[in-house]
Amino acid sequence: MTHPDSWHIDRPKEECGVLGLYTPESQAARLAFFALFALQHRGQESAGIAVSDGHTVRMHRGMGLISQVFNEEQLHGLLGHLAVGHTRYSTSGASVLRNAQPIYCTSVVGEIAVAHNGNLINAAELRSELEEEGERLNTTADSEVIARLLVRNMHLGPENAVAATMSRLEGAYSVTVLTPTMVMGFRDPNGVRPLVAGRVADGYMVASESCAFFPVGGEAEHEIGPGEVVIIDEKGMRFAQAVPKRRETMCLFEFIYFSRPDSVMYDTELYTARENMGRQLAREHPVEADVVVPVPDSGIPAAHGYSKESGIPFHEAMMKSRYIHRTFIQPDQRMRELGVRMKLAPLLGQIKGRRIVLVDDSIVRATTTNQIVKLLYDCGAAEVHVRITAPPIKFPCFYGIDMASKGELAAARMSIEEIRRHLGATTLGYLSIEGAARAVGRPTSDFCLACFNGQYPIPVPEGLSKMAFESPPDVGQLATVTTGQLRLIED
Ligand code: SF4
Repeated sequence: MTHPDSWHIDRPKEECGVLGLYTPESQAARLAFFALFALQHRGQESAGIAVSDGHTVRMHRGMGLISQVFNEEQLHGLLGHLAVGHTRYSTSGASVLRNAQPIYCTSVVGEIAVAHNGNLINAAELRSELEEEGERLNTTADSEVIARLLVRNMHLGPENAVAATMSRLEGAYSVTVLTPTMVMGFRDPNGVRPLVAGRVADGYMVASESCAFFPVGGEAEHEIGPGEVVIIDEKGMRFAQAVPKRRETMCLFEFIYFSRPDSVMYDTELYTARENMGRQLAREHPVEADVVVPVPDSGIPAAHGYSKESGIPFHEAMMKSRYIHRTFIQPDQRMRELGVRMKLAPLLGQIKGRRIVLVDDSIVRATTTNQIVKLLYDCGAAEVHVRITAPPIKFPCFYGIDMASKGELAAARMSIEEIRRHLGATTLGYLSIEGAARAVGRPTSDFCLACFNGQYPIPVPEGLSKMAFESPPDVGQLATVTTGQLRLIED
């Protein structure tokens, strides 16, 4: 099924963006607000910032984009020199305000606010344990399990509290934590999701991606290693190996699609990695054609690479509407059929009578690609050769990316020739796993490749559903939280 939101539905979705920062002035919320803008692509369902002035934790969160959740008045009320922030797309726990982050927890030893990107595999088990011990969890998100374990361990001191908590967690997680006096960030022992630390405005910041540093005049300095923790406070920024590192297996999709092209991961700027993927794609799947056309915007770097390697001219042939975002209007049948036409405006002069190489980042269910190929033929294309920088996606992700169930994945139910026929494309070529890794300049063993080859670097129990943690929602919705008093407000 396709509808005006099919663009979003047929794209893999990142789960979240996280950050934590310290600045000597009481402007942490304002800096976090601007840095979060740079992480908006990692989640658009809800956003939140928690701050501390050294004594009191205050927090505001809401549903929607960062610009919808925060205004001047709210930022003004969040005074403090320490902050954590979060943008959310839900892959575990329903998309309701109650599950928005940061998640606030308190215990006899103190209070914390936690922001999490990833997915825990043993969340249901840990949740049951906590409930058996008398904890009443407020959310259905697996991130609250991390927060609850952490707040229980805070009496051990920051490094030991993180180590004790991480020893219980299985799965993919990059986490930032606010206490009244410090900010911490830590990354799972396989380093599946990104996390980077650096300097900002006489202070320090830790964030999902390096692109968050530039808008606030900062500079990323150190990719947090697998199993590593960073602690930031008035004394500076220090690192410790909280738990032993396992084989580092960063998500290959971060390089192909999720992260912003101006971010740097594994010491490589992602725009360059994506351009290299396009070059490699041209070597693996050459074709005679008149023009290389990207699917905007994510296909642009790879289309440039394909063009440079093949010598076929690059040209944009579809302009993406800047103003269609998620719609809450239920689409009728006619609108479903319009689908991609609401998102993309064709440049007829670039399409009519031409043999087109169409470069895109991924095929999930094949609904969007199918509509784009049809659009190009409807506009008079002579041939459409589809080239994809992600290898065929055959298996679901349990580490924080929402793709589809196995039965919905095009490459899990069809051969490549069947997908080509389904798309109506003249030819179809996917980048190989080896080719994608080579484009980043690392061996395949340095990546999680589970959705491509079914080899999960963190074992996934048989029959696990990524929504296994889901439980019926409560009525209460926690939006603004101040120390010791949970204030329920409607946003
Ligand atoms: S399964 Fe795929 S999307 Fe998920 S972490 Fe691994 S490479 Fe990334």
